[in-house]
Amino acid sequence: MAIEEHGAMGVEERISFCRICSGGCGVRLTVDENEKILSVRGDPDSPLTAGYACFKGLQAAESHQGPGRLLHTLKRQADGSYARMDSGTGRRRWRRSAAMAVSSISLLISCTAAS
Ligand code: SF4
Repeated sequence: MAIEEHGAMGVEERISFCRICSGGCGVRLTVDENEKILSVRGDPDSPLTAGYACFKGLQAAESHQGPGRLLHTLKRQADGSYARMDSGTGRRRWRRSAAMAVSSISLLISCTAAS
């Protein structure tokens, strides 16, 4: 990811690409000193997309920092609420969550097949 200095203190422009779909549109991200995305625009120097980025790609800052973004694995509780799964870290936590989901789905399939 290339970096260009921006006018404001600690604000930089990063050359990257959108990962939302397989289009891989070239984008320029303006980020602050905490790596927070401030804005997104199509990269006019991208050889593939020449400045184009669709609405979804241009909304990356909002989706990246949105309150509904899932940052941790959650497990549904008996009362319908969700609780954060804190055992393990990083990939181990995601693997454990996937294993629990597989276990639950397998149990559901076996119960359905039995009836
Ligand atoms: S900007 Fe839009 S079309 Fe391009 S990669 Fe992102 S989501 Fe896909």
